[in-house]
Amino acid sequence: MKDKIEKIVGAGNVSDKEADMFVYKNDSSYLEGHPVLVVWPASTEEIAKIAKLANVRNIPLVVRGGGTSTAGCTLAEDAIMLDISRMNKIVQLNLTERSITVEPAVTVAQVNRLLAHYELCIPTVPHTVSGVATIGGLVSCNSPSSLRFGQIGNWVMSLEVVDGTGKVFTPSKISIFVGSEGVCGIITKVKMKVTKPITAISGTWKQCVSQEELSLLSPLWKDSDVITIEYFDAYCSQLLGLADKPHLWIEYVFLDKGDIKDQQELAAVRERIAKLYSLLKQHKFTVHTDPYVPHEGISPFLHFCRRNSIPVYSHIGQGVMHACVRKEHPEMAGKVYKLAQKLKGYPSGEFGIGRAWKEYMPPDKKNELKEHKKFYDPSGILNPGCLL
Ligand SMILES: Cc1cc2nc3c(=O)[nH]c(=O)nc-3n(C[C@H](O)[C@H](O)[C@H](O)COP(=O)(O)OP(=O)(O)OC[C@H]3O[C@@H](n4cnc5c(N)ncnc54)[C@H](O)[C@@H]3O)c2cc1C
Repeated sequence: MKDKIEKIVGAGNVSDKEADMFVYKNDSSYLEGHPVLVVWPASTEEIAKIAKLANVRNIPLVVRGGGTSTAGCTLAEDAIMLDISRMNKIVQLNLTERSITVEPAVTVAQVNRLLAHYELCIPTVPHTVSGVATIGGLVSCNSPSSLRFGQIGNWVMSLEVVDGTGKVFTPSKISIFVGSEGVCGIITKVKMKVTKPITAISGTWKQCVSQEELSLLSPLWKDSDVITIEYFDAYCSQLLGLADKPHLWIEYVFLDKGDIKDQQELAAVRERIAKLYSLLKQHKFTVHTDPYVPHEGISPFLHFCRRNSIPVYSHIGQGVMHACVRKEHPEMAGKVYKLAQKLKGYPSGEFGIGRAWKEYMPPDKKNELKEHKKFYDPSGILNPGCLL
């Protein structure tokens, strides 16, 4: 197989070296895989040829973007890892239509650096790993989620996809591929809407009296001037250097709404918030769950986490709840997901479901996805073990 793939991508772009298998056995989750080959394709045509070959030989393929999945979405188990990092070109910027077409390994930060010259942007940030996570990976997980701008899928205009038989096409129903974590097709191009950035943002910290005191939230949820509402429980607030009480961080589209108006100061707050991930890791809270919980379920959800000493940070505006547990206590993550299920939530708000949380996926969603997979990937070679 290695020889055949070398003929497609060139000798330097395939590896079965022990060291490479070691590097690619992890993503950013607590799980591990075992790739058998790593391939670095450079074009749609190469990917299509590899998929054709893999389909005939029944060898699984897993696509890797930035590898930042926290849900074990991009782990290869006796499979070929397709690292698409060489496909990182901006294909076309159409200023009249306000759209941009990119290869899948381009990052949001890369796009926004270019768009800044034209006073445009893809507005799905703040996103902590926007310089690493790829547009292909973000679209495949339909992340991140933002109160004002929605999920990244809302900004996708069209896709180019290679399916599990090696066929290249432009799907008429892009929703099949947005959020399906690479199990139905490999995204090789993404065309997205772009917009004017909001430049005059202001922000405010608000302290909640108790974990359940969410009366502050109802007016904010309806306020169209709000860009984002982030929640930090007392534990996370303390890690961020705030008082030992739950806090909300709110960003507004207007300068006169929030207390912090200086844009550099605002950026510093975001930087500080972005450190929470590693601060929690220092305290061994390495498993960050990600259920979506509807607004009416948030109060009981937070109550459960507090009773069980589970730290929570949340994009609370959208109901994305990151309850953090220690790797040694995976059963607590299970309890978090079961509760979210009971509260009529969904197993992923933005990080993906992957291998880690697939048992909590609703059966009707699973069945729908199975049908799509049967059609686009009849041999089941694309990212097996993920989602289904
Ligand atoms: C420290 C940290 C902070 C994070 N913060 C946030 C946050 O604020 N908001 C948020 O939403 N997420 C966050 N994440 C999660 C992560 O950034 C997202 O899940 C992101 O979508 C993954 O992008 P990626 O390029 O790294 O994809 P990968 O991790 O490489 O892959 C993710 C999935 O997409 C599939 N995939 C990748 N590229 C393609 C392609 N071209 N075609 C088909 N399938 C493909 C993979 O097979 C896999 O199933 C964070 C992660 C970390 C580690």
